[in-house]
Amino acid sequence: MQHPPEFDLDKTFRTHGPGYWSGRSVTPEDWNSHIWQLKNRITSLAQLEEHLVLTQEERSGVILSGTKLAMAITPHFFNLIDRDNPDCPIRRQVIPRIEETLVSPYEMTDPCGEDSHMPVPGLVHRYPDRVLFLVTDRCASYCRYCTRSRVVSGVGDQELETDYEAAFRYLEQHHEVRDVLLSGGDPLIFSDSKLEKILERLRRIPHLEFLRIGSRVPVFLPQRITPELCSMLRRYHPLFMSVHVNHPRELTLEVKEALERLSDSGIPLGNQSVLLKGVNDDLDTMRTLVHKLLMCRVRPYYLYQLDLIRGSSHLEVPVAEGIRLIEGLRGHTTGYAVPQYVIDAPGGGGKVPVNPDYVLKKTAEGTLIRNFEGRTFEYPEPSTIGAELLDY
Ligand SMILES: *Cc1c(COP(=O)(O)O)cnc(C)c1O
Repeated sequence: MQHPPEFDLDKTFRTHGPGYWSGRSVTPEDWNSHIWQLKNRITSLAQLEEHLVLTQEERSGVILSGTKLAMAITPHFFNLIDRDNPDCPIRRQVIPRIEETLVSPYEMTDPCGEDSHMPVPGLVHRYPDRVLFLVTDRCASYCRYCTRSRVVSGVGDQELETDYEAAFRYLEQHHEVRDVLLSGGDPLIFSDSKLEKILERLRRIPHLEFLRIGSRVPVFLPQRITPELCSMLRRYHPLFMSVHVNHPRELTLEVKEALERLSDSGIPLGNQSVLLKGVNDDLDTMRTLVHKLLMCRVRPYYLYQLDLIRGSSHLEVPVAEGIRLIEGLRGHTTGYAVPQYVIDAPGGGGKVPVNPDYVLKKTAEGTLIRNFEGRTFEYPEPSTIGAELLDY
């Protein structure tokens, strides 16, 4: 089935289903059920080819994906694909390509050095006061550039062997940890009761001030954000959530409403995008994305330089391009709309902010700065005034 001509108007919040789901007929009840969406994910070449004419690069990529990172695409997300455009930005994120088998010498299976920072299996403790808790290896759909493809989806060589009890004990004993970030895989793939058991257990540890969940479920599977899930989550405040949207088309009406349900439950929302070639590496797309995010009450949090995952070079954007995008936003639009661009230092140094150079010169007398228009200004160093006074 053809998409309507206004399909490319990514500035609006549109609904994309179930009308465009070709093949069998789907009732709205099924379509709006996250169970149905998960059961009907596209996971095989045959299913994919029922709906889409693949390019040769994609066809070979799908055949090889079975041993690296599985393919899975929810019908909801699949419907966002422009079937007439082989370079569709949605398609590039979830359909494997043969380029995934090309490995450059810089690429690594564990680009952020997480495995070497795990005091117990599944718990990454890199920063002084916060931890990353990998609670599952499964997601609603798999991003082809997944930073944890070594353990995620269950088909690679390595397995995520999270030891929950050991993790809880570690957190009980480590009073310096005040912030736990639940990630994976995707924590919202769990049932409400399974997720609640984890949250409830964490909330029994008094020094844990702050909890957050990293999830792409609101985007891949907005049907999962049920009122029941939201009323469960709100019992564990302060709870923040980081979602993952890369392209404005992902912000459909269903996704907007799911994000609103989370916000209405008192959960502050941030977005983490990954800078991807052919997806969001141009200023128009990025500007539209951050504006739509604000309309969904989501604060753009991080823009990530792509981690050096094996077989990801076809999606890589030069750092200079990323800086140029941030420069194109800062000052030109709402400050809340501008994410912090970061590189997760290869090998395990953590996130490092990367910014355009607004400080042109720094001397004992003052700081020479430039604004978003390129005009220069000097800010005198307060200490030079103090030094002059001492001369009396
Ligand atoms: C990203 C990350 C965090 C959270 O970092 P913030 O800058 O606080 O959002 C914590 N631990 C690890 C290992 C991470 O990669």
